[in-house]
Amino acid sequence: MKLEERIALITGGGRGIGRAIAMAFAREGAKVIVAARTTEQVARVAEEIERECGMAARAVSCDVADAASVARMFEDGERLFGRGPDILVNNAGIAESAPLLKTTDELWHRHLNINLSGTFYCTCAALPHMLERGWGRIINIASIAGKTGSPYIAAYSASKHGVIGLTRSVAMEVARRGVTVNAICPGYVETEMTTRAIENITNRTGRSEDEARATLEQMSPQNRLVTTEEVAAMALLLASEEGRGITGQAINIDGGSLLY
Ligand code: NAP
Repeated sequence: MKLEERIALITGGGRGIGRAIAMAFAREGAKVIVAARTTEQVARVAEEIERECGMAARAVSCDVADAASVARMFEDGERLFGRGPDILVNNAGIAESAPLLKTTDELWHRHLNINLSGTFYCTCAALPHMLERGWGRIINIASIAGKTGSPYIAAYSASKHGVIGLTRSVAMEVARRGVTVNAICPGYVETEMTTRAIENITNRTGRSEDEARATLEQMSPQNRLVTTEEVAAMALLLASEEGRGITGQAINIDGGSLLY
């Protein structure tokens, strides 16, 4: 068991990539806390983990864009498992598209607040415990949109570029203290977020759902979407003892669409 005795907190753990990571970590012996705004979804994932993996799992409600809500989540976590998390996965995120000149202040700030400030708040809350124990793992789910630009996603892309900058700087700051900080940069993954992207293309272009899906698949040289399990497998490597030499990295899982 690669994560025995570890406590992991996964934001956005109610579905998609966060759920897959929570399941993968629990299968390797971690106790997990899954957090999101929709309480029913995280509660369901926690129950599923206890039933299928036999590991302790707890659901916590949290809006990562709200610093006070993040502080309460960490207090709840400590109360539930007796100490702060050894592993933090900053996965909670949103993605909406709009041409730049139709990007409202609200849409812009919502992306920065959830995707970037949420990662900052959770990292600040988790680090003191990790530094005190001399062991920790912070895994930020960024995106290939954090390394390159595409039309209509300025807010999302800017927030994910920010996540990668934050990852690299914090990694350097704590490199000698037993804590690693990395980002995973997926291409399009089979989740609700991608289903919404497909709906969006369909609505805006009149293309069929299959055509819209094919457009996203063709963005990868492997001509397919990434699975949540593939992202979870990378998160597990970064979280494990074997991953201790990897820090400050932004690792693509995109079938080769970006070569940097
Ligand atoms: P998803 O299916 O939409 O799930 C997103 C999760 O984040 C949900 O549990 C959601 O729950 C939670 N969340 C959203 N806003 C939150 C907030 N303010 N506070 C707390 N939790 C919040 O998306 P996904 O595809 O699994 O994406 C997960 C991460 O991967 C995101 O950061 C995304 O940007 C990144 N990513 C996804 C893809 C892709 O193609 N799907 C590609 C690259 C990167 P609530 O709404 O209930 O809070």
